[in-house]
Amino acid sequence: PMKQRLLVVANRLPVSAVRRGEDSWSLDISAGGLVSALLGVRDVDAKWIGWAGVNVPDEVGQRALTKALAEKRCIPVFLDEEIVHQYYNGYCNNILWPLFHYLGLPQEERLATTRSFQSQFDAYKRANQMFADVVNQHYEEGDVVWCHDYHLMFLPKCLKDFNRRMKVGWFLHTPFPSSEIHRTLPSRSELLKSVLAADLVGFHTYDYARHFVSACTRILGLEGTPEGVEDQGKLTRVAAFPIGIDSDRFKRALELPAVKVHINELTQRFAGRKVMLGVDRLDMIKGIPQKILAFEKFLEENPVWRDKVVLLQIAVPTRTDVPEYQKLTSQVHEIVGRINGRFGTLTAVPIHHLDRSLDFHALCALYAVTDVALVTSLRDGMNLVSYEFVACQGAKKGVLILSEFAGAAQSLGAGALLVNPWNVTEVANSIAYALNMPADEREKRHRHNYAHVTTHTAQDWAETFVSELNDTVVEAQLRT
Ligand code: UDP
Repeated sequence: PMKQRLLVVANRLPVSAVRRGEDSWSLDISAGGLVSALLGVRDVDAKWIGWAGVNVPDEVGQRALTKALAEKRCIPVFLDEEIVHQYYNGYCNNILWPLFHYLGLPQEERLATTRSFQSQFDAYKRANQMFADVVNQHYEEGDVVWCHDYHLMFLPKCLKDFNRRMKVGWFLHTPFPSSEIHRTLPSRSELLKSVLAADLVGFHTYDYARHFVSACTRILGLEGTPEGVEDQGKLTRVAAFPIGIDSDRFKRALELPAVKVHINELTQRFAGRKVMLGVDRLDMIKGIPQKILAFEKFLEENPVWRDKVVLLQIAVPTRTDVPEYQKLTSQVHEIVGRINGRFGTLTAVPIHHLDRSLDFHALCALYAVTDVALVTSLRDGMNLVSYEFVACQGAKKGVLILSEFAGAAQSLGAGALLVNPWNVTEVANSIAYALNMPADEREKRHRHNYAHVTTHTAQDWAETFVSELNDTVVEAQLRT
C-alpha cells in the first residue's frame, strides 16, 4: 500500500548549509533525536519544510540548494534578511519567547518592542504565509501536515484557507502561559484563532493545554470541552503529547570504545570528587545564575564538601548578538569568578564553566560520569537534558535535581528531587541531600526515571501525534 505522506513544517530545517560556490552547497544534517523521530515515523513517508538558516538572494543559489536538500528529504523556504530580522529575531524571539516563558523585558526594551510590535507581527504573518506557500506547492491529497512551534502559529490558518480538507496539526515545544499572560499580547486573538484552524493542537503537558483552552474561552469567548475548543460546532482537538528522546541512541553511544575511553579519563580526572553537571543553552529561562548561587550557598554551609565536589556547567552560547544574552553571559562569568576565587585552591576550583557546546559523544560521556545533574529552569517546555542524563545513568544511577517549572517535572517527578529554582535555600539543601543520598534510595529513584525515559521515546511521541491527527480528522468527518 502507498505510505501516507507527512510534511513536517518547522522554522529551521535540521541542516546547516554552507555555500561552496555559485551553485554548490555542503550540507550537514543535525542528527538529533527529534529529527530521527520525525523522519522515522513508522509507515509514513516524511519530508521536512523550513528555513535553511542562510540568506540566498540569487536564483542560481536557491535552485542549487533546493536540489541538494531534496536528497535529504528537505524542502527550503527562502526568507530574506529583513524578514528574518522582523519575524525571527523580532516577533518570535523578542516577543513570543519571553512571553511564553513568563519573562519580563527591561523597561526600555519593552517600550521599543511596543513601538515596533505591529511591523513585527505583520512580518510574522508574511513569513508564515511564505511557509504556507511552500507547503501548498508540495501538498498532495491525504498528506498530513504537522506544524511546529511558536514560530508558526499563523500557519494552520494559512493552510486551511488554501485547502479546508488538509489535515493540519500544530505542536508547541515551549510552555503555553496562563491566559492572564497571553492576554497582554496585542495580537492575542488573531494568534489563537489561527492556531484553532488546525485539526489537532498539541502541548508537552496537560497544564499548557489547559492554559491554551482557557485563553480561548476567556479571550475569544469560545466553549472549552474535555476534547478541546468548540467554535460554532467545529471542534479543534487539544491534548498533551509529552515528547521523549531516542534513549537507545544514548545507550549505544556509551558502548562505543572511544566513549568508554573518554569516560575513564573523566573518572580519573575527577577521582575523589563527586561530579555535578549542568547542561543548558545560555538562556534566561535556564536559571543558570540561580543554580550557581545555590551551589555557592551549599559550599558555604557544607565546608566538608568543598574539596570533594565539582560543578561542571556547559553553557551553550545562543542568540549571542542580543544584548540581553550578552548581559547574562557576563553576569554568569562574574558569579563563577567570585565563587572560584572564594572557594578555589591552588590546584582545584569548585566550578568549571564552559561557554561552548560539546559533541554528542563527549556529552554522553559527561552524562555517564555525573553523580548529580542540576536542572534549574525558571520555565522550560520540557527539558530534554534531564531525559538524556537519565538515559546515560544505567550504571551509575545518579540523582536528578529538577526544577518544578520544567515540563519534565510532570514525567520525572517521582524519581527526581523537585525544586523551586528561585528558592536558593531549597536548592542548596537538595544538593546536600542528593550528595548524601543512600544507595537504595538513589537506585529506586533512578529506576522510576529510567523506566519512563526508555519507554516514552521520541518515536512514540511522533507516532502518537500523527495517528491522533488522523483519528481526529476521521471523527470530524463522521460528525458532519
Ligand atoms: N546539546 C547539544 N550540545 C551541547 C549541549 C546540549 O547538542 O553541547 C543538546 C542536548 O543534547 C539537548 C538539547 O541540546 O538535546 C537541549 O534541549 P533542551 O530541551 O534541554 O533545551 P532547549 O535548548 O531546547 O531549550
